Amino acid sequence: KAKREEKNTYVFYTPSINETLYEQVMIEKYLRQAIKENQFVVHYQPQINLMNENTVGLEALIRWQHPKLGLIPPNKFIRIAEETGLIVSIGEWVLRNACEQINSLNSRGYSSFRLSVNLSSIQFSQRGLVEMIQGIISDTGMDPTNLVLEVTESTLVENIEFTVEQLNKLKAIGVQIALDDFGTLYSSLNYLKHFPMDIIKIDRSFIRNIEYDDRDLAILKTIIRLGKDLKLKVLAEGIETERQLNILKKYQCDEGQGYYFDPPISLKEVQKR
Ligand code: C2E
Ligand code: MG
Ligand code: MG
Ligand code: MG
Repeated sequence: KAKREEKNTYVFYTPSINETLYEQVMIEKYLRQAIKENQFVVHYQPQINLMNENTVGLEALIRWQHPKLGLIPPNKFIRIAEETGLIVSIGEWVLRNACEQINSLNSRGYSSFRLSVNLSSIQFSQRGLVEMIQGIISDTGMDPTNLVLEVTESTLVENIEFTVEQLNKLKAIGVQIALDDFGTLYSSLNYLKHFPMDIIKIDRSFIRNIEYDDRDLAILKTIIRLGKDLKLKVLAEGIETERQLNILKKYQCDEGQGYYFDPPISLKEVQKR
């Protein structure tokens, strides 16, 4: 193994790149095991109506509990799962699991929470996606109007024609569509009018500095206004402080989620509400 001091003598062999590749290969191997051995869990982050501070929705966020490596966050494995195609079965598992859990919660007399599930671009362009979702809805009894699929801008702009077709099919089975991480790409505002969307989720990078940066505040106000004029629900991601909340309320942002309210929590904790 090359040590740091020996770096200059190994021109074509950089330990850091090698370790990254090794790590990726290991993660892929472990991911296959994880699917077989049921090592994934879904946590839920509450989504709050900012006017009355009621919990109106839950975003399903996958966690990987590895017996030796411990809890692995999605940022560490979703990309590799996408590159290897494993995201298709992982994503389907998340959707089925979350629908089962939240539907049984809703039907046991809890308020009827909306359920949001993230959809990878790999899944979005999969043939049979709509049928797969319809199947899970039928199997679990989940009310499709309470189900929200979160997609990102980069997913949608890959192939505009296909996207419109796919979104229309999804709308036809009754589910809602949320535009996740809004504003992080090039935000071609034009496509908003072509896509049948229900919710835009303002990325937390816009929320982070609204207390201090007038330019961020200007952008935020404009996105909220735009969303409202397009008859979309506007949700702010990553609310961490009371001041951020108050600013968002002042500009009538509909909903929010963030550590100020709750981090992602286990199903057990959700049941306590
Ligand atoms: P996302 O869909 O934008 O989810 C929001 C992320 O922000 C979550 O990270 C959440 O824990 C975090 N977050 C929430 N509130 C705050 C806050 O106040 N401050 C900060 N700093 N962070 C906050 P998480 O759970 O680590 O997930 C990261 C990303 O991984 C997600 O971003 C999503 O893109 C992806 N992901 C998670 N679960 C799934 C899944 O089941 N399928 C797919 N395809 N992607 C998933
Ligand atoms: Mg999301
Ligand atoms: Mg997001
Ligand atoms: Mg994100």
